[in-house]
Amino acid sequence: MIIDIDKLPKDGLDISRNFDFPSVDLVEEDAVFLQPVQAELSVKRMEEEVFIKGRVKTVLRFTCGRCLAPFEFPVDSRFDLVFLPEEMQELKEEFDDEDADRLFYRSRRIDLREVILEQLNLTFPARPLCSPGCEGLCAVCGKIRREGACGCQVKETDVRLEPLKILRKDKGK
Ligand SMILES: [Zn+2]
Ligand SMILES: [Zn+2]
Repeated sequence: MIIDIDKLPKDGLDISRNFDFPSVDLVEEDAVFLQPVQAELSVKRMEEEVFIKGRVKTVLRFTCGRCLAPFEFPVDSRFDLVFLPEEMQELKEEFDDEDADRLFYRSRRIDLREVILEQLNLTFPARPLCSPGCEGLCAVCGKIRREGACGCQVKETDVRLEPLKILRKDKGK
């Protein structure tokens, strides 16, 4: 859905509709859309600046980075963006750091699909986990620890005991 800046109504444009994206467009590998993206957007132009306020909602399926189990990841994210014409990009160096988030439109157009997809991708965690305390997989049999004990004897080196080992070694001399 492409917005032509010069055809925007004076009072702006309110959009409420679903967008379908192929799951491969997501930055998160293995992520899958379980629902279309519901977007509510308001687009307003003031002189050469275009303001896009919006909310995106969807549900995705992620793969846990530790136990590899699939889990649902709901997104409900709001954003408030300002777009400037691309000619202004050359002046970017003159903006200070707080303007680092400025966006630019090209050829007098803004592709709303791109905007929505980018905002969606920004909501993803760096490493998706099924739960913050996910214990991952048993190092011996590969069973998901969350699903119960597998009975494997996992020898884990406890760093807190390291100094004790050294002490014992000394005694043995
Ligand atoms: Zn997990
Ligand atoms: Zn095991």
